[in-house]
Amino acid sequence: MKMDEPAANTVRLIFQLALQGMSNTKIAKELYDRKIVIPEVYKGRKRRQEMPDLHSPYVWTLSTIQRILSDEQYIGTYVMRKTVVKELGTKSVNQNEKDWIKIPNHHEAIITKEIFEQVQKQLPHIKIKSRKQKEYLLKGKVYCGYCNHNMDRRPKKNAVFICRYSEVDAAFSCHNLSIEEKELEEIVFQMILKQIEIIKNAEQISNIDVQTAQKIELQKQVKLYQQKKKIFYEQYIEGNLTEEQFMRINLELTKELEPIQSKLEKIDFQLQYNQKRNLFQNQIEKIEKDNFHSLSKKLVDIFIDKIYIFKENRIEVKWKIEDFLQKR
Ligand SMILES: [Zn+2]
Repeated sequence: MKMDEPAANTVRLIFQLALQGMSNTKIAKELYDRKIVIPEVYKGRKRRQEMPDLHSPYVWTLSTIQRILSDEQYIGTYVMRKTVVKELGTKSVNQNEKDWIKIPNHHEAIITKEIFEQVQKQLPHIKIKSRKQKEYLLKGKVYCGYCNHNMDRRPKKNAVFICRYSEVDAAFSCHNLSIEEKELEEIVFQMILKQIEIIKNAEQISNIDVQTAQKIELQKQVKLYQQKKKIFYEQYIEGNLTEEQFMRINLELTKELEPIQSKLEKIDFQLQYNQKRNLFQNQIEKIEKDNFHSLSKKLVDIFIDKIYIFKENRIEVKWKIEDFLQKR
């Protein structure tokens, strides 16, 4: 592992702060106050990469600090973590530490073994990865409306969603932003009921069978024109038509083709609209049989893409069905 001096200094600083007995939260605050950029940003700048739009490059997550403080690579050990992807589309998860390959004294150490071991004794022994994640209705859906980070759910008896990202600085617009889970679920449920009404009342544009037949007919016409164009082009290549003649014929055919193509696009669009409408109406019919009275995982899955939280319980929902409702 090669590490440049500034990066190594940051690692040393983090260990120093930990040795002083600071908690990970306090270390995060200290790094923020000292304006030390997070690893992703540091690496990005070194490679002169455009960075994604970050709210602040100085906000360290607790898991990053925890990861650095328990990383044996800093004492010169080569660690090959075996990772495994547990669910498709999710991040790979570290395997049990006993399955890792470790080679001590593999490279120059940044941190002495003594300091490292001292810090290990102090570290809170939270196994972030092995801890079973609690299931809850709006999991992965709740975002801070100001900084766009996923909001944490504090699993108290009356759970609240909070934006942890802005904890380090009261100057952030989302500092202390929170919303009660129960309240949020009720608001979202009411919003979904309204969406259901809209979809139920969405009328079918014309008849799908008629439209499909029209589509096939139009497609045939388009193909015919394309064949004609090809024939005239070949005539021109073979010298049977002058360039001027060919261009004139080609332009005429293009003009004739235009209205056919726009008609085809329109029908295609209406067909898609109808198919989507039918799909959603079927889904709604199915869930209505369950006689729902409150928010359920099913409803969330069908309707909700993301929920953005703002102050005073103002929320904005990004619907999965948005384009269906808008483009009609
Ligand atoms: Zn925020």
